[in-house]
Amino acid sequence: MAGPNHCMYPDADSDGFGIPRLLEYLLGGGRVPDRVRPVDSSPFPAFMRAFYCDEFVLPLPEGHRFPMEKYRLLRERVTTYADVTLEVPEAAPLTALARVHTTEYLEGVLEGRLERDAVRAIGFPWSPELVERSRRSVGGTLAAGRAALDDGTSANLAGGTHHAFAHRGEGFCVFNDVAVAIRDLQAEGSVRRAAVVDLDVHQGNGTAAVFHGDDRVFTLSVHGADNYPFRKEASDLDLGLADGADDDEFLEAVELGLERSLAQGPEIVFYVAGADPFEDDRLGRLSVTKAGLLERDARVFDECAAAGVPVAVVMGGGYGQTVSDTVDIHAATIRVAASSRRPERHRVPS
Ligand SMILES: [Zn+2]
Repeated sequence: MAGPNHCMYPDADSDGFGIPRLLEYLLGGGRVPDRVRPVDSSPFPAFMRAFYCDEFVLPLPEGHRFPMEKYRLLRERVTTYADVTLEVPEAAPLTALARVHTTEYLEGVLEGRLERDAVRAIGFPWSPELVERSRRSVGGTLAAGRAALDDGTSANLAGGTHHAFAHRGEGFCVFNDVAVAIRDLQAEGSVRRAAVVDLDVHQGNGTAAVFHGDDRVFTLSVHGADNYPFRKEASDLDLGLADGADDDEFLEAVELGLERSLAQGPEIVFYVAGADPFEDDRLGRLSVTKAGLLERDARVFDECAAAGVPVAVVMGGGYGQTVSDTVDIHAATIRVAASSRRPERHRVPS
């Protein structure tokens, strides 16, 4: 029902501006026309807050396969979105990091005392800049979590470091930003129940391990069954796709995963919107198109809004043959997030 809190797409049918046309606009790089802007009665701001930390660059050796520049390119793209405000987050406080990570691991990272194998598993050389960058990236997700509770939707233009475990990192992930943010919101009493909707092509193994056996946090991972990490952890719901899975197979899994996640009654969703299910991704192995990924994003924001659940979106991986493809996909996610319907209200713990 469209009550006073209802906003966003004015009736798609009568207006003739349904999801297909929205996708067309977004894929064409066009701006969303004024008529899909929030109506005046919306309790939420007309702007979405997004957090970025690309100025905290970590030094990588020549030829390193991690596309660090995607973050700057994404932020430059998002700067042109009139309905997104950009902020640099504080570094995550150690108290917040310590709610998830072991003291030994935290000290090892902060003081540069990790074993060589532990550094190799992370995949980045240790440097003070790596520590700062990692803390800022978690800080962006902490800030996005709070902003989502206030505004309905928010974004971190980094984060999604879902391969980080409590006691170790791997796969370009030092700290688990989403786990830290959920534990932080729970600790301050802002939420009790949360869901992680992880649609990056790689399993969110660190997140699954952190929340294993915790019935207040539902973990969903839709990923390539035969892709990294080759030893999977048990999420609450793992939907593994065969190599070469196409838009239909991917979206079917997304739909099932979303339905099951929202059925748990989360008070917030952290959405890991990896760009790497894309067909031209170097590390993806699926055959999902840009249109398929856009449809994925639309469904996440739409169904969470319909369920009254705020969403904080984080970027996750993206290793396109050309970095501009990765940036296109992440930017489209932000575009959809900013122009999506907001939840009518969010639940608060009683
Ligand atoms: Zn990934």
